[in-house]
Amino acid sequence: MALWIKDPLAIFADGAERGVVVKDGRIAELVPAGREPSTPNVKTFDAGEYVVLPGLINTHHHFYQTLTRAVPAALDRELFPWLQALYPIWARLTPEAIDLAATLAMAELILSGCTTTTDHHYVFPAGSEDGVDIEVAAARRLGLRVLLTRGSMNLSQRDGGLPPDSVVQDEDAILADSERVVARYHEVGEGAMVQIALAPCSPFSVTTSLMRATADLAKRLDVRMHTHLAETEDENRFCLELYKCRPLDYLEDCGWLNERTWLAHGVHFNDGEIKRLARAGTTVAHCACSNQTLASGTCPVCAMEDAGMRIGLGVDGAASNDSSNLMQEVRAAFLLQRSHYGVKKVSHKDALRWATKGSAACVGRTDIGEIAVGRMADLALFKLDELRFSGSGDPLAALVLCGAHRADRVMVGGRWIVEHGELPGIDLADLIRRHSAASRRLRGG
Ligand SMILES: [Zn+2]
Repeated sequence: MALWIKDPLAIFADGAERGVVVKDGRIAELVPAGREPSTPNVKTFDAGEYVVLPGLINTHHHFYQTLTRAVPAALDRELFPWLQALYPIWARLTPEAIDLAATLAMAELILSGCTTTTDHHYVFPAGSEDGVDIEVAAARRLGLRVLLTRGSMNLSQRDGGLPPDSVVQDEDAILADSERVVARYHEVGEGAMVQIALAPCSPFSVTTSLMRATADLAKRLDVRMHTHLAETEDENRFCLELYKCRPLDYLEDCGWLNERTWLAHGVHFNDGEIKRLARAGTTVAHCACSNQTLASGTCPVCAMEDAGMRIGLGVDGAASNDSSNLMQEVRAAFLLQRSHYGVKKVSHKDALRWATKGSAACVGRTDIGEIAVGRMADLALFKLDELRFSGSGDPLAALVLCGAHRADRVMVGGRWIVEHGELPGIDLADLIRRHSAASRRLRGG
């Protein structure tokens, strides 16, 4: 049966003034002004109270960090000392804590209008080696589309890196497990619900040997690659000192400067480096809230797009945001980039485009990120019935400018996973209670 999402208040798509028809999990038809659907046997969903967006796509996160939000010892610190305050807590992660963190982070994302998320899970303490497996199970329970990454760290303090010895693994174990999770979970082709990518953490926590071996393995398995790069000035200094080059030169030397790679942050690239990234087809996950919280700098998003790069949005880990609300991230990116580039250069539609079509490029997909015929039916529907929207004119602009934060309905692959602002089958109060208890245990030691 086809479903006509009829006569929305506004929709982020051209030629769909009367809505869209969803059939077999995809967008089957856009219905322009003054027309009726041509698809036969359509049921109708009255969307008169809704603003309809393509489902938002989150391109950078660390679910486990929801357990360590606003940790006193990490407050008011920049990236390196912030990490050093948190590593010892993360070293105590358990399988139960990872499950609760992944479930809570994804619930938060979905309720903010997210239909596809990535996660960069790179902490595998003894006993919690199956972190990715736990996340896959949680994503399937929630019905969220995911690109989960098998992250890694193998350069500890002993060898000149930043993390303590207790949170790193050796290269052979990392590569073997990377191959295992790809073989077990990675789906290929349009409509995939679970995909896997490989994601060494950063230049200051991973050896050159592992970076190169990961690039070779990703190529052989035909999966995407992800890492943090050019986040802070500290990282520049670290690379110059240890590798005698800037982070992007290091990335290229490791075989990572290509279209398979999407990078978190990209704050400190210069003009020449942006041109090289654009030529290579490498994409960037812009994390506006995290960059502001850690005072890392401002990602030059418009310069990157002008050079031909594609940019997505990421909420980043919940210890540096500290929320997993992707709709609020759209607003944060809009405000940050507008203040940086001016009103002529950045509109609310640009910010929405980064979180949808731009993010789709980061995760390497052409079947999501847009409301267009043939794309997967991944949609986020927002009502404008809160105090914050009252008196607004343009409904689409109101979402970004007035600060929308909660979707009333979310559809993934033609199936509603949020109805009336709720996740069916998930007891949020119980989840918060168990997640908070896990967080207290972790922080208390
Ligand atoms: Zn991150």
